[in-house]
Amino acid sequence: MFLGCHLSVSRGFLSMGRQALELGANTFQFFTRNPRGSRAKAIDNDDVRAFLDLAVVNGFGPLVAHAPYTLNPASIDPKISELARIILTDDFNRLSLLPGVFYNFHPGCHLGRGAEAAMDTAIELLNEVFPENLNNTVLLETMAGKGTEIGRTFEELAYMLGKFKCPERIGVCFDTCHVFDGGYDLVGDLDGVLKEFERTVGLTKIKAVHLNDSLNALSSRKDRHAKIGEGQIGLEALVKVISHPKLVNRPVILETPNDLDGYAVEIKLLKKELGL
Ligand code: FE
Ligand code: FE
Ligand code: ZN
Repeated sequence: MFLGCHLSVSRGFLSMGRQALELGANTFQFFTRNPRGSRAKAIDNDDVRAFLDLAVVNGFGPLVAHAPYTLNPASIDPKISELARIILTDDFNRLSLLPGVFYNFHPGCHLGRGAEAAMDTAIELLNEVFPENLNNTVLLETMAGKGTEIGRTFEELAYMLGKFKCPERIGVCFDTCHVFDGGYDLVGDLDGVLKEFERTVGLTKIKAVHLNDSLNALSSRKDRHAKIGEGQIGLEALVKVISHPKLVNRPVILETPNDLDGYAVEIKLLKKELGL
């Protein structure tokens, strides 16, 4: 089991690795750049090498890089589309220095055009800019369906996965808050939800989990995360998700509203629940 949380990238990879260890984590997630999508700091190769040494010694699992959430690859507005192209191209370039790191992003919003047209736009862009020799897997995040977000239903995720040019280089990041908020009952029918995912996308396509409780009830589509055990999903159902036999060995990332001390408490709690 690889368990960690979202960390601020500002001080570099070695620093994040040490921070993760202090929290009891053996993986983490970081933004590729400021979430608003501005310029990214160059990746320091010595820093990455030092981190990799620490990661090997401490048995770290794969890391998750998160694209800026303001990115809308599904947009046909020339300016927004061009910005998405620039950011994705630059991020893929930088990821080439971080082999094996997952690249998670939100597929975008259709803004009234309809999901299918928007999905086609997003995947076309991805197909244009993804370097086929890149040793990284891109992950589409399961979305809550807030506003006109695409990627809420498992069918939509399956549709997009099916159109990507490198089938081995695409997967899904399963966000528990979003899935529940988006209408899948992780509390009352976890087995049914996972069966549905298996039927549409395939559980092997889940490469990472975002473990969040949800402030709001099933199907509310508001995307408000809660601390583990303090939301509408609850500790028991969340532990069941990450201990499911078909979902082991994935990086599990907390994106709960916490400071670092709060993350340490949640990691400890989850390890206890998992018998680790
Ligand atoms: Fe996200
Ligand atoms: Fe998430
Ligand atoms: Zn969210």
